[in-house]
Amino acid sequence: MEGPSEINSVFWNEEKKSWDYKLIKVEEYFGFTECQQCRKPMSHNIKTDGEFKMVYVKCACADRK
Ligand SMILES: [Zn+2]
Repeated sequence: MEGPSEINSVFWNEEKKSWDYKLIKVEEYFGFTECQQCRKPMSHNIKTDGEFKMVYVKCACADRK
């Protein structure tokens, strides 16, 4: 499956008490889960550093106030 080579994942930074971003390199891409509201990807299923992971991203709802 075609996918991005990098994902700007979002995660909760407990120390900063705020959302933070981390660029994650994608070795293999398996697809995503879409947001029920905006139908944009919410999380991606990927392989990075030889590990299978689900990484979260901000969907379009997060930009709406
Ligand atoms: Zn959304």
